[in-house]
Amino acid sequence: MQIRYHCPHDGCVAIIEYAPLEDAGDSITCPRCRHTQPLKLTESIRCGHSVDRCTVCGGTELFIRKDFPQRVGLAVVVVAGLASVYFLRTNFMLAYAILAAAVLVDLAFYLVIGKVTTCYACRAEYRGGRLNPAHEGFDLATSEKY
Ligand SMILES: [Zn+2]
Ligand SMILES: [Zn+2]
Repeated sequence: MQIRYHCPHDGCVAIIEYAPLEDAGDSITCPRCRHTQPLKLTESIRCGHSVDRCTVCGGTELFIRKDFPQRVGLAVVVVAGLASVYFLRTNFMLAYAILAAAVLVDLAFYLVIGKVTTCYACRAEYRGGRLNPAHEGFDLATSEKY
């Protein structure tokens, strides 16, 4: 499982990725500011590869969302849009086909991408582990507590 979190140290904007989380010790040191983030790895994470508690902040409320690479999705649409405008006058069918293909590519992305478990409190993300059936999709009411 991989963890990805924002360094909580004041003024530090580093995004830290570490994998496998299961082998991390009891802390991760930020490569930018040298802040040491203590980790609380639970039995469930270490052995079951399933997050039951956030290792960064200890929060027990997490949600699952699709790990959609929004920038990639947007790039596909922009490139296809420009290409279809270019072909619109000379080959209408081709312009249309390019747009249709872009929609299909975006859809395919959506279907094959994995899911990511995210902590409500600190937004730490966990990828590649087993999903915890206790976690549900993003809930605004829960989110507003933080
Ligand atoms: Zn840092
Ligand atoms: Zn957290």
